[in-house]
Amino acid sequence: MPDPLLSVERLTTIFDAGSRSVVAANEVSFHIQRGETLGLVGESGSGKSVTAFSIIRLVQLPGRIAGGRVMFQGRDLVSLPEDEIRKVRGAGIGFIFQEPMAALNPVMRVGHHIAEALRVHGLAGGAEARARAIDLLRAVRIVDAERRVDDYPHQLSGGMRQRVMIAIALACRPPLVIADEPTTALDVTVQAQILDLLRDMKQEFGISLLLITHDLGVIAETADRVAIMYAGRIVEQGPVREIFRHPAHPYTRGLLESIPGGAAGSRLKAIDGAVPNLASLPPGCSFGPRCARHMPQCDRAFPDVTHVGIDHTVRCFLHSVTHRGGTAAAASEGGPRPAGPGA
Ligand code: ADP
Ligand code: MG
Repeated sequence: MPDPLLSVERLTTIFDAGSRSVVAANEVSFHIQRGETLGLVGESGSGKSVTAFSIIRLVQLPGRIAGGRVMFQGRDLVSLPEDEIRKVRGAGIGFIFQEPMAALNPVMRVGHHIAEALRVHGLAGGAEARARAIDLLRAVRIVDAERRVDDYPHQLSGGMRQRVMIAIALACRPPLVIADEPTTALDVTVQAQILDLLRDMKQEFGISLLLITHDLGVIAETADRVAIMYAGRIVEQGPVREIFRHPAHPYTRGLLESIPGGAAGSRLKAIDGAVPNLASLPPGCSFGPRCARHMPQCDRAFPDVTHVGIDHTVRCFLHSVTHRGGTAAAASEGGPRPAGPGA
């Protein structure tokens, strides 16, 4: 396999609060190949945004990156000098936030936002930047782009604002775009339009996409691979089709069963319980207290990464090597399948 465009390796981000500290991203590892969309999924508070902000080094104090590497185009973003990481933001990695209104300056016209992105990276200025802004607004399917370029953010609908955010993210033609819940704040009908647009932009601009969502339905339609996050850790990851057909982690199964008409084909069912407070995690597996397949060893340690298929890994004792051939896995329906040749 070629070198991935982005390789996140054991990335760990901690929030210090007095004597207590919270590990919001705990040894998070994943990679994204060129042209690929990786979905990062988890319930609210699982550490998705912290992971995204850590990649581009925008975690605010009291948060800090405590370990790991973020390899992007051959460089480790974690150790890059501040002026270098600034160049990566926008030109190397575009960013789309959940709340476009919070990310846009209310007294700056739409065109000015895009022109500013181009100017900061020395790509265009003046009349050329304005012309490019209009082109980008057309590219994100904004009707009447010549007129809209002079609008202020409050003159646009929520969906239009998110289109503008996408135009800004694409302005410098970055190879990678991170979209953090880009449709969560929008009406359902508009959500579908924005997802369609992101898929089209991926093709037209040839970008790779890290798509963060709490909605596995979005992943099914948009992503090539998926990483499932729970309480700061990636608990399962692999190709979307594989994970939807053969979810290995009880948490992933729970998420799938909670999608109406989901791949599990079963009734709508939410997972009992709530995401634990990161400041007081249970010992062992953080999902243990909510897990229908809980075993005594789950309270003792967090399971290591196990390969359960080609490019498919899970962290769960049901599948761990020490358990293979043992009773719990062998007796379970949907226990581990033989690892593929790539595992
Ligand atoms: P998600 O995006 O998955 O909903 P976040 O990444 O925003 O979750 O947050 C994960 C956890 O990180 C939070 O539940 C919280 O414990 C911690 N956290 C995030 N931001 C802060 C902050 N500014 N101060 C303290 N803790 C924070
Ligand atoms: Mg978030």
